[in-house]
Amino acid sequence: MSTQRKLTTASGIPYYHHEDTQSAGERGPLLLQDFILHEKMAHFNRERIPERIVHAKGSAAYGTFTVTHDITRFTKAKLFQEIGKETRVMLRMSTVGGEKGSADTERDPRGFALKFYTEDGNWDLVGNNTPIFFIKDPKKFSDFIHTQKRDPYTNCKSATNVWDFFSLNPESLHQVMFLMSDRGTPHGYRHMHGFGSHTFSMINSDNKRVFVKFHFKTQQGIRNFTAAEADQMRATDPDFAQRDLLNAIDSGNFPKWTMMIQVMTEEQSKTHKFNPFDLTKTWSQKDYPLIEVGTLELNANPQNYFAEVEQAAFAPAHIVDGIGFSPDKMLQGRILSYPDAQRYRLGANYEQIPVNRCPFMVNNYQRDGQMRVDGNGGAAPNYFPNSFDDIKPDESYIRPAEPVETPVADWYDRNGPNDNDHYTQPGIFFREVLSDEDKKRLINTIVGAMAGIDGPKRNLIINRQLCHFFRADIQLGMGIANGLGINVDEIMPKQHTA
Ligand code: NDP
Repeated sequence: MSTQRKLTTASGIPYYHHEDTQSAGERGPLLLQDFILHEKMAHFNRERIPERIVHAKGSAAYGTFTVTHDITRFTKAKLFQEIGKETRVMLRMSTVGGEKGSADTERDPRGFALKFYTEDGNWDLVGNNTPIFFIKDPKKFSDFIHTQKRDPYTNCKSATNVWDFFSLNPESLHQVMFLMSDRGTPHGYRHMHGFGSHTFSMINSDNKRVFVKFHFKTQQGIRNFTAAEADQMRATDPDFAQRDLLNAIDSGNFPKWTMMIQVMTEEQSKTHKFNPFDLTKTWSQKDYPLIEVGTLELNANPQNYFAEVEQAAFAPAHIVDGIGFSPDKMLQGRILSYPDAQRYRLGANYEQIPVNRCPFMVNNYQRDGQMRVDGNGGAAPNYFPNSFDDIKPDESYIRPAEPVETPVADWYDRNGPNDNDHYTQPGIFFREVLSDEDKKRLINTIVGAMAGIDGPKRNLIINRQLCHFFRADIQLGMGIANGLGINVDEIMPKQHTA
C-alpha cells in the first residue's frame, strides 16, 4: 500500500482540483456543486475567533518549574512538596491595550500568565510584569480599558482620555509611574520580571493560612528599550518580542526566572499600615523579604500558534489545593471575568482544548455544549449523586473555613487608614528606587505622553494630574510642569504666610 499522503476534504475524501473550480465551459461561470470551493471559502471566513479584549498580542512557550527551596511550612500544594520536583508549565506574555496586530514594543504593562499542569489540576497564575495595577476595584476595569482603546468618535487612541481617567483616579499613580519608567518598554519578554500581582494565600497541611505575593525575577537581567529605541523597533520589527522569544528557545538559549514569595501572616494582615489586599500597593521587601522557591525555565516552543497560544486560556479562578484567594478586590473580580471571557472567546468547553486540558484526572458532570469533542463522558452517568459510577468527592480537599464578620457595604467613603494614600509609594519609587538618569527619562516620557492631551479640558486634566505628581514628590511635579511649560505659581494653591 502506498504511504503517499493524499490531499482530502475535511471529511477525508481525496480530491484533485485544489486550485481550479468546476465551471460551465472553460471560460464559463462556476458551478454551485463544487463543494470544495465552498468548504475552502466558508472555513476561511470563520478562521478568526474574538480576539482577547485585553492582552490580545502575545507570545507563549512551554517549560518546566523546578522546586529549589522548601516552602511546605506554608503550603500543601503538591507541586511544592519536594525539592527537585518538576512541573510542566506554559507561560504566555503579552502587551495589554493593543490589538492582535499591534507592536510588541508599545509602552504598556506586559501580561505574565502561567499555567502549571499539576497532578492536582491546572493552576493558573495570571499576573503582569508589574507588582501593582492601575485600579483597585474591578467595577472600574471596563471604564479604564475603554480609555486605553480607541476613542468612539475618532477611532484613534486618545492621550486625553487616558490622562483624564488617570487624573480622576489617583490610585493609578503608582502604576502610571512604572508604566512611564523604562520598564514600560521591556526589551522583549525575556528581560522582565513577572509578578502574580494580587495577594493570594497558601494553606499548609495543618490548614493554617498565610497571605502570599509571587515574584518571578528574570535570570537574563532587566533590559529595557529607551522610548526612542522602542519607537524605532515598532517601525522595524513590530513582532520583536515574539521573534526574540522564539529564536532564543529554538537555539537552546532557554530563558529562566527565579520564583520567590513574600509571606504575610493573617495576624500581620490585620494590623498592616494599609489594606494589604490593595492591588495598587506593594508590600515592602524590607518588612516582607523575598523567599526563594524555584526556577521557571522555558524550553519548548509551541508548534502551532493558533492551537496552542491563541487558544490558551488562563483564569485566576483556577487554583489548586494548598493555594487560595485573598480579599484583593481585583482578584475577586477576575475570578469571575477571566473564565467568562474564555467562554465567550472559545466556548463553554474551552478547558478541553489540548493546551488547556489537565493532563491528569478530570471527572465531572458537565456535559454537551458547542465543540464538545472529548467523548462527553460516554455512557457514564451525567448526574451526581448516582448509584452507578465510582466518582467520589475527596474530603481531604475540604477548604478550611475563612472567618468573615463584617457589615456589607459599598465602602466608598469608609476606607481604612491610609487606604486612600495613593502618594507615599509612588514617592518612594521616585526618590529611592530610580537613579538620577531614570528620573530624567521618567519625567521626559511623562511630559511627552501628557503633551498629547488636547481639547477644551486640556488644562483641567493636566493640572489635576500634575497635582498628583506633586503630592508624590515635589521634584517630580516640578520636572513635569517645567517640561510642559506650565507656570506652577498659576495653578498651585497660594501659600499664606503670617
Ligand atoms: P526595596 O528597596 O526592598 O525594593 C525595591 C524594589 O524595586 C526591588 O524589588 C527592585 O527589584 C525594584 N526595582 C528596582 N529598580 C526598579 C525600577 N527601575 N522599576 C521598578 N522596580 C524597580 O524597597 P521596597 O520593597 O520597600 O519597595 C520600594 C518601592 O519599590 C515600592 O514603593 C515600589 O514602588 C517599588 N517596588 C517594590 C516592589 C515590591 O514588591 N516591594 C517590587 C518592585 C518595585 P529589581 O531591581 O529586581 O527589579
